[in-house]
Amino acid sequence: MNAIAPAITPASAQALLRVQSLRKSFGSLDVLKGISFDLQRGETLALLGPSGSGKSTCLRCLNYLEKPTEGSVFLEDERIGQVPDRRGELRLMTDTELAPQRAEMAMVFQLFYLWPHLSVRDNVALGPIECAGLSRAEAYNLADEMLEKVHLRHKAEEYPERLSGGQQQRVAIARALAQRPKVMLFDEPTSALDPELVGEVLGVIKELAEEGRSMILVTHEISFAREVADRAIFMDGGHIVEQGTAIEVIDRPQAARTKAFLCQAGGRVSSQR
Ligand code: ADP
Ligand code: MG
Repeated sequence: MNAIAPAITPASAQALLRVQSLRKSFGSLDVLKGISFDLQRGETLALLGPSGSGKSTCLRCLNYLEKPTEGSVFLEDERIGQVPDRRGELRLMTDTELAPQRAEMAMVFQLFYLWPHLSVRDNVALGPIECAGLSRAEAYNLADEMLEKVHLRHKAEEYPERLSGGQQQRVAIARALAQRPKVMLFDEPTSALDPELVGEVLGVIKELAEEGRSMILVTHEISFAREVADRAIFMDGGHIVEQGTAIEVIDRPQAARTKAFLCQAGGRVSSQR
């Protein structure tokens, strides 16, 4: 792609994740138009914005589920998705090369994608066995530990269809945690849930935030974002419109677009709950 940028820039050398000038186009549609931000270690960052503003695309570009058109992502100063070839030019990594990097940024999606033919414990243990090479016994121990974190240890032997949507999403969170990721990426983890099941999933996410995990959370739950996130980014039309502490952005938005969005989203959230 382009020449290799120095891996460390003094201003943000402390950041766990650095996103620099990320652009993504699908054909003639420019979806991300130059997004730059940092995630500090232990920080929860809320990514807010209207539908279609590019939030999911942004998350998917971080771990190269989508290949960015331009720009760079660094996790602990290691460049994601690209390596220098013999001539020193960056080339795209193969899927095999990418796998360990992807495991460091575990994603939780709106839909849970659990295997229906596997028990809850096997769903959580599968990745550690197949990707991290753990023995079955080690993976089961790890799975039970992670199920404990989402308060579902007692459901380890159940099959997903016997669980509520909120419980299934908590299993998906346990599965992501079992990757032992450096960053957790949540893409609207409660949007597919019935309103009465949202709280249990948000409760688990809050506990993870309080443990000091590093997380990026795309959500329409504005009051939750305000409570749990350290910082917030408001995106619209593929741009970052504003960013700051979650309280600054949510309580005292500067840009007209942020104000309009929060006004509307606030109305929707309160009418739902
Ligand atoms: P958000 O998550 O904020 O709702 P998305 O990142 O899903 O937004 O989508 C941003 C824009 O990119 C939308 O216009 C969407 O239709 C478009 N888009 C997303 N993925 C693709 C794709 N694979 N191919 C073409 N267009 C896409
Ligand atoms: Mg989305």
